[in-house]
Amino acid sequence: MSNWSAQFKKDCEIAFNEEHWQKINYNTGCYEKRFANSRDNYRNAELEKQRAYILCNKSLMNMEKLLVDFETHFNENGGNVLWARDMEDAQEMIWEIVNRRDIKAVMRSNSEVLDEIGLNAFLAGKKKPLFETHVGRYVLQQAGQAPYHPVFPAMHLSKEEINGILHDRFKLKLDSSSKQMVNFVRHQVSQEIEQAQVCITGANFLLSDVGGVVLTENEGNIVKSCASAKVHVVVAGIDKVIPSMEDLSILLPLSASHATGYPMAAVNTITFGPSQTDQGPHEMIVILLNNGRSDLLGNEVVRQSLSCIHCGACISVCPVFKNIGGYAYGTPYKGPIGTVMTPLMLGLDDYEHLTTACSLCGRCTEVCPVKIPIEDLIIENRRLVATERIGDAKFEALVRTMIGHCKSRKKMDCAQWLKRLEIKQLVNKNAFTKRTMPELAPRSFSQLSKEEDL
Ligand code: SF4
Repeated sequence: MSNWSAQFKKDCEIAFNEEHWQKINYNTGCYEKRFANSRDNYRNAELEKQRAYILCNKSLMNMEKLLVDFETHFNENGGNVLWARDMEDAQEMIWEIVNRRDIKAVMRSNSEVLDEIGLNAFLAGKKKPLFETHVGRYVLQQAGQAPYHPVFPAMHLSKEEINGILHDRFKLKLDSSSKQMVNFVRHQVSQEIEQAQVCITGANFLLSDVGGVVLTENEGNIVKSCASAKVHVVVAGIDKVIPSMEDLSILLPLSASHATGYPMAAVNTITFGPSQTDQGPHEMIVILLNNGRSDLLGNEVVRQSLSCIHCGACISVCPVFKNIGGYAYGTPYKGPIGTVMTPLMLGLDDYEHLTTACSLCGRCTEVCPVKIPIEDLIIENRRLVATERIGDAKFEALVRTMIGHCKSRKKMDCAQWLKRLEIKQLVNKNAFTKRTMPELAPRSFSQLSKEEDL
């Protein structure tokens, strides 16, 4: 068992706690209600999803050309494009930008790709102050906690817990209302935005035809940060590129309604390069991150995962996420799409345990706005794990036992207690420590049919 796998089991235990469950189920329940209502905004939601599916597939198939076109147009607009092979490359590029300009403080947006490159830990190691500009993430930073969910990073905290964090850190009075807390944090964030000279963000989409970077948010802090920074650095996975600005009419409403349940994000910005006036960043750099994405692109089956627009809908509806929580995944990409992408990007050896974090209920596939067949991709990952295990004597013995058992009528009809014992051995010794094993029928169908003389 890898260290990651052992850690996964420990972290799952944290979520086995009534209070924790209640908070997660309450918050995901609110999201699901809003999401269900948002479907009313579409005359034909399935048709729109089909359009998005075709568009995303077209983008993946032409990624190479679209990226080169994006670079050409973005350079023409006065920006600069850098290509990062992996996380270390991206970190070095960011350090070069920050260090060469003698930047005192950096601010960042809520973005999974910035977590993917380990930005916070990297800058902390370099002793460079980093400010979070997202309200939820700002609170988490004060408590030294990582985000729990990509769209609602502090969904695991109750109002009282947030009040406690702000009280400990800033002496905010303990019975503050939600509105008072939000206003307080917004004020803190505004002050920090004024101090930081570099703003680092992700990108929702990269527009190949005009060299534009699309950023969507609900708080308006990204646009404020970008407007006040001297330098704007964008880190974007190479999968973020889409052909044209017109495509946003399909993707932006789908992304917003699936992320939060609201028809559109409150603030949508397209930035084309450095500012042409006295205000806004005088330098804009886009770091295009590969980090294993081109390997995924080369695999006909799993490449569909790169269509993900990171709306977080699959995470919010997944029963496994609701039970094991966001921290158990141990990586920035959580929930169903994390279950697909993490083992493929970071290695099956360390992350094969994630392929078991799925009951194959299909909810993620049902809600995905770009029609990624997530559960099929999880099954494909399981197949890859099983293929890798061929030759492992213990695994092969287990499979032989299962086959032998299923083929033998005598074994299938054996006593209930013996079946239970075998299931425990075959499935996983730890699988039934926290939940009860389903009751087995006292007699098999074959036995019943003989008795009833069917
Ligand atoms: S199919 Fe698996 S990953 Fe998808 S929602 Fe169901 S349990 Fe979660």
